Amino acid sequence: TTKSALMEESKKKIKVTKIKESRIGAVDFNNLAFGKMYADHMLVADFDGKEWVNAEILPYGNISVSPSNAAWHYGQAIFEGIKAYKDQEGNPMIFRPVDNFKRFNVSAERMGMVSVPEWLFMGGLAQLIDMDRDWIPTGEGCSLYLRPFMIASDEYIGVRPSEHYKFMIINSPAGPYFNKPIKLLVQDKYVRAFPGGVGYAKAAGNYGGTMYPTELAKKAGYDQVLWVDGFEYKSLQECGTMNLFVIIGNKAITPDLSQGTILAGVTRASVMELLKDMGLTVEERPISIDEVIAAYKDGTLREVFGTGTAASVAYVEQLDYKDVSIKLDTTKYAVGSEIIKQMDAIRTGKVADTRGWNFRV
Ligand code: PMP
Repeated sequence: TTKSALMEESKKKIKVTKIKESRIGAVDFNNLAFGKMYADHMLVADFDGKEWVNAEILPYGNISVSPSNAAWHYGQAIFEGIKAYKDQEGNPMIFRPVDNFKRFNVSAERMGMVSVPEWLFMGGLAQLIDMDRDWIPTGEGCSLYLRPFMIASDEYIGVRPSEHYKFMIINSPAGPYFNKPIKLLVQDKYVRAFPGGVGYAKAAGNYGGTMYPTELAKKAGYDQVLWVDGFEYKSLQECGTMNLFVIIGNKAITPDLSQGTILAGVTRASVMELLKDMGLTVEERPISIDEVIAAYKDGTLREVFGTGTAASVAYVEQLDYKDVSIKLDTTKYAVGSEIIKQMDAIRTGKVADTRGWNFRV
């Protein structure tokens, strides 16, 4: 569908109830705490076993859900994370939301859930951002964080895929992410995902499962876990909730997605393109901790960083594995800093969007 046909369908199918009085006056845009405040409106829709009904944009607020709701019990719950910015003229733009829309339905399939149609996800997102455009902060590094999600909604505690689902979008203004370098612990006991599992899906349980090992790492003085595979405990996967890039010489290496254990990051895909344009050789392939240690020892390891919607790029200043501690001078990160600069320029319309990454509402 063309964008105008999509929006037409979406406007026809989604009821809009505007907030009586905006809550935006209560927001201190110079002091935004992530995920504490939500924009005036949210989107809600129900899958009734056959089709999507009751699609509505309405004031943000609580919803009522049965205690027997299947989502609480068996974890059919998925989500997305997207950011909206404003261009230099103040027009809202969403960064690559079609990629998140596609990934959402990949997650839905893996979790045995129904897919969400374009008029609801994309059209709903566009309508919502249009209405709540004033909630997009324009300060350096600020954005509106968009959170589409879907949960099972059968009132039934038998173990089977739910027949009913609830799809929602809520949005939260996000302050600047200070690129504080991070310390990573290679977690060689607990794993995040395994081949054949749900690692490639943005499923709620994937995050629940990482809380305990991440807390252990934090107590030991680290910021995040560097996840490895569950066989040799050496093949690098992701760091925290970010994809991983290792710069060795003129090569940028990122773990490949073939095992289904890694989330296909939208930032990852974007960074790979930018790295190629910067003249680096991008390699998507398995990378072992042994290779990183060897490169560190022979002096060819230049940078290690994580990529994701929240941080864009997070520099790694320390990476510990058993008795080896890799320490990197992140003030010398020429590649990572160039990526941040370019990403920021594209997302805020400071440079031409030659790849069509910005979705205008
Ligand atoms: N891996 C995981 C496990 C994540 O939760 C995220 C954040 N969505 C990413 C990687 C990065 O993905 P993206 O660049 O699409 O935000």
